[in-house]
Amino acid sequence: MLRKFRALFFLVPAMVALAQQPSPPPSPSPAKPKPPPIPEQKTTVSSVHVDGPYIALTFDDGPSEKLTPRLLDLLGQHHIHATFFVIGENVAQHPEILQRAAREGHEIGNHSWSHPNLAKMSDDAVRSQIKRTEEAITGAIGSRPVLLRPPYGSITPRQKHLIHDDLGYEIILWDVDPLDWKEPGPNIVSSRILKETRPGSIVLSHDIHAQTIQAMPATLTELEAKGFKFVTVSELLKLQTPVPPPTPKPVNTTTAAPSPVVAPSPNG
Ligand SMILES: [Zn+2]
Repeated sequence: MLRKFRALFFLVPAMVALAQQPSPPPSPSPAKPKPPPIPEQKTTVSSVHVDGPYIALTFDDGPSEKLTPRLLDLLGQHHIHATFFVIGENVAQHPEILQRAAREGHEIGNHSWSHPNLAKMSDDAVRSQIKRTEEAITGAIGSRPVLLRPPYGSITPRQKHLIHDDLGYEIILWDVDPLDWKEPGPNIVSSRILKETRPGSIVLSHDIHAQTIQAMPATLTELEAKGFKFVTVSELLKLQTPVPPPTPKPVNTTTAAPSPVVAPSPNG
């Protein structure tokens, strides 16, 4: 007991002394001020909230000399318009396939010149990849693409600003990915797409893999049977509706007390 008191006797003044120590002077500002963080913009779209069974099929990495025309035949039979995110190098080799796709009502998006990982590149190199492809597409179909999908979906926040604000593109990702590039077999590609697709989905696949094309007849038929309607990505963006706020608790307006101060709604 006594020992405990003695300990307290020493401890308390020590604590008081500690508390009374003057706070350290503010540290001098560092030589290199940290740049303000770039605010994350909603400049990438993975899916869209829509009131209706609308989806967008997207096909990347073409055009492919053999497979893209087969896909265009199939889409034509189903009266489906899709979006093709094309590689500039391939456009330069097969502008006639792109012309056919555009003529038949499909949308053409920019997917870089040679499919590099943009996130590892300088701004100048990114700009060059995009502008070169833009010129190839515009030269082939006579209109400028307004959608861009970064290869691998890989992009830095600063590049998002560059591509969206400076180069004028909507950056389109996806919410349905059947991993068709791993060639798991047409049935797996098809079942993954059917399982994951919901209204407002953007479905990713590639028109450079034979299995993907083989998967499409059954996939399109099944999606149609589920009632989905197919639009291009730009059309899907126009169909976007606001996400409804969470259902508020019912309030009896006649007896409700004066409403308390409420934080302003972000939508206000
Ligand atoms: Zn790709």
